[in-house]
Amino acid sequence: MSSNKLKGIGASDGIGIGNILVIKEADLNYDKSPAEDIDAEKKRFNKALKSFAKRTESEAKKLRNSAGDKEAEILEGHLLLATDETMTGQILEMIEGGSRAEAAVDRACNAFIDMFSGMEDDLMRQRAADIKDVRDELLKLLLGIKDTDLGSLPPNTILVARDIAPSMTSKFKKKNIAGIITEVGTATSHLAIIAKAMEIPLISSVPEALSIVKDGEPAVMNGKTGIAELSPDETTLAEYQESLRKELEHKAELKSFRRKKTKTLGGERIQLLCNIGTPAEVASVIKETGEGIGLFRTEFLFMNRQCEPCEDEQFEAYKEVAVAMKGKPVIIRTLDIGGDKEIPYLDLEKEANPFLGLRAIRYCLKNDGLYNRQLRAIIRASAYGNIKLMIPLVTCVEEVRSVKEMVHAIQKEYDEIGVAYNKELPIGCMIETPAAALIADILAKESDFFSIGTNDLTQYIMCADRGNNSVSNLGSYFHPAVLRSIRQIARCGKAAGIPVGICGEAAWNPNMIPLLLSFGIDEFSVSPSKVLPTRAMISKWSIHASHYVEDDIMNLETAEEILIKLFGEQLRNDLVHEKIKSEQRELDETE
Ligand code: PEP
Ligand code: MG
Repeated sequence: MSSNKLKGIGASDGIGIGNILVIKEADLNYDKSPAEDIDAEKKRFNKALKSFAKRTESEAKKLRNSAGDKEAEILEGHLLLATDETMTGQILEMIEGGSRAEAAVDRACNAFIDMFSGMEDDLMRQRAADIKDVRDELLKLLLGIKDTDLGSLPPNTILVARDIAPSMTSKFKKKNIAGIITEVGTATSHLAIIAKAMEIPLISSVPEALSIVKDGEPAVMNGKTGIAELSPDETTLAEYQESLRKELEHKAELKSFRRKKTKTLGGERIQLLCNIGTPAEVASVIKETGEGIGLFRTEFLFMNRQCEPCEDEQFEAYKEVAVAMKGKPVIIRTLDIGGDKEIPYLDLEKEANPFLGLRAIRYCLKNDGLYNRQLRAIIRASAYGNIKLMIPLVTCVEEVRSVKEMVHAIQKEYDEIGVAYNKELPIGCMIETPAAALIADILAKESDFFSIGTNDLTQYIMCADRGNNSVSNLGSYFHPAVLRSIRQIARCGKAAGIPVGICGEAAWNPNMIPLLLSFGIDEFSVSPSKVLPTRAMISKWSIHASHYVEDDIMNLETAEEILIKLFGEQLRNDLVHEKIKSEQRELDETE
């Protein structure tokens, strides 16, 4: 491959044309040796504090206009903390004692952080998080580190980074980001999921991308093929512009599905819901005509901050989504942390195999204070809409029973003190581990619904880390083992008379849809950007025709054979339908 070409994994489809912007990770390490010139250190600190105050004031002003008073007050609170005399007094005292400005800021702030973070009161703990922010900002100013402002990037920016944490994506303004290229990651990483949701082209796993690209360099990229070209010549640029034009045209075509119901060709009604991470995403769900929320990944409420959101804050978030969805289903998945989703303030222990460790429901049942606060918030919010509660990473029926016990205890307390909630709150399981798949019949008896998480189900069945590119060929949900497992889960759910949905990435794969329909999946949950293509694809299949596909596919032995077969299936579907239509015509004529 020539040096102006980059090749990685196509992790989020789409054509990107723009200019490169390199993101470097901030290194807050500083010189720990004693100060050489005390006065100079004092001056450095005062200058940093002044810049911090000036910048924060102007950011608060901007935030007041773009977001609101409450958000602006957070920044004003930071300003009060940084200029608090006790704090600045201690910093200056430490400098007098011979510390460099960085060390003094770090130590003084840390003493306050320790003090506040040990307190019971939510507000006080929030104070600790605020001081951490202030500390990091002051350190960056002292070290001369400039943050890339992901919220105000120039239009047509192609971001290039080693990796982008899910928490950083909350600052993205989609209209300015033409694409993202990362050195690590796969097509099912959390960044990929978010990029797909935001329709931002993403190429991951590009070896040494950071040392090849130059800041400001023009580039074109294809998030499907995983290829990017730096400083493209005129012909290449014209080709990409043409592809982008076609892509936009195709999107316009899909828009016609906004006005249609989600139905198969045979008229069977299917529920088409959306996956979200924050209440802010509800706007795209409504815009894209999603019919509810099939997966609210609540861990995103816990990210990008420095302490746990308190019960009331969580309640407001869940209520906001429930109210906005106006009686349509809202499946709230309880905290799914661990694995690749780290939340620093929760102090998750370092584990040799985090994906096999204390994650999701396992962590929550061990930390029942935190889980209890979340359950209370969800139960209170259930009074405001059609909320359902979903448990992630279930492996044994005891986990479901424990959650139900906790829920019932809270409900009993709410009955006693007169707090409103939905007494019929459905509680369901995410089926995403081989253990859950194998005991789906047992779990079905304890569950009001199932939702199949094919991202984790695939990684655990195939023993192939979803974030590890070297085994990504194995991690395919088209593998017969995964397909059999999905079919088995659906059968168990159906036999118990509970709805079975699917909320992993497989839910919107066009080649997967006929199989899922045939298995009896009647609820699909996809990112908002995939609602229209999924609805369009579902409309091309009848359950009747999809059974032909299942018959052919489920006897095959490898993922490759299955894929080859499926690519030809659309054609077969059209033929089957012609046949069904002509049989119907004949019937009509004879009647
Ligand atoms: C899944 O595992 O399929 C899923 C939907 O959950 P997540 O991607 O958040 O692990
Ligand atoms: Mg999962």
